[in-house]
Amino acid sequence: MKNISVIGAGTMGNGIAHVFAMKGFKVSLVDISEVALLKAIATIDKNLNRMVVKERISEKDKKATLGNITTFSDMNAGVKSADLIVEAATENVDLKLRIFKSLDEAAPKKTILATNTSSISITKIAAVTSRPEKVIGMHFMNPVPVMKLVEVINGYATSKSVSKKIMQLSKDLGKVPTEVNDYPGFVANRILMPMINEAIYTLFESVAGVEEIDTVMKLGMAHPMGPLQLADFIGLDVCLSIMNVLHDGFGNPKYAPCPLLVNMVMAGKLGRKSGEGFYSYGHGTKEWIVSKSFK
Ligand code: NAD
Repeated sequence: MKNISVIGAGTMGNGIAHVFAMKGFKVSLVDISEVALLKAIATIDKNLNRMVVKERISEKDKKATLGNITTFSDMNAGVKSADLIVEAATENVDLKLRIFKSLDEAAPKKTILATNTSSISITKIAAVTSRPEKVIGMHFMNPVPVMKLVEVINGYATSKSVSKKIMQLSKDLGKVPTEVNDYPGFVANRILMPMINEAIYTLFESVAGVEEIDTVMKLGMAHPMGPLQLADFIGLDVCLSIMNVLHDGFGNPKYAPCPLLVNMVMAGKLGRKSGEGFYSYGHGTKEWIVSKSFK
């Protein structure tokens, strides 16, 4: 595999483009939003600069990495020579089904179609294509350049050889892949998201404030980040979509998203990417430590 197309240049898409480009793959980064593409390149540039400063890569490596990435707002043009497509667009079932139908029509027949979805059924996505055996989940963790895990999800029809290729490719990227089966939330979000939702319920029921809840989990459970800060980092819209998938998929009321999470998403408070969630964020990478009370 040489040519990789990444669909969606948001939080995850720019990180996925970054790691492939750093390993010498030619990356076509596609987004419907020109602004998102500009922002993605600026983010990759900033993250590479940080690596140069830490002497983990040279200025020449940085230039080569950026030189491996081309941006496209036209999806057909961005996927026509792809060996592998990694879709990382917004977490919405209807949108993903539409995208995969289009990708199936636009990409060469040999192309493997992977999705970075956090929770949506790989089997359902694969079923709208004419190549379900070549559709697979390739779930990177955030921030992609830093986090080692790739959850590789086999849909009902995913072929063994495609699965093997994606496992090997993940290793070639310097990641540690874990192979799992296709059930709502897979493994990572089936366990993580109910914990985050419970933290939001704890706030909603005024058991404690934002900082208190995060402090308990950081210092008490040795989590590097509290669940509310992590929710901001992931994106509250993404968290809500995942809870909805768990709720619909298992039909168990224990997965009902907390009403506070629903309200915050409706109000556009999406966390770090919108500037405000459980915490407020300045323009830089540092957050202004905030106290936001929902009491
Ligand atoms: P995001 O909102 O930051 O970015 C989504 C991008 O998709 C936006 O730039 C949007 O313009 C673009 N997009 C929407 N429709 C498109 C289309 N038709 N064609 C091309 N681009 C389109 O979202 P994100 O957090 O990067 O999440 C992307 C995917 O990764 C989701 O499936 C999410 O569940 C998954 N994921 C997210 C995280 C996380 O921590 N945020 C972690 C693992 C996996």
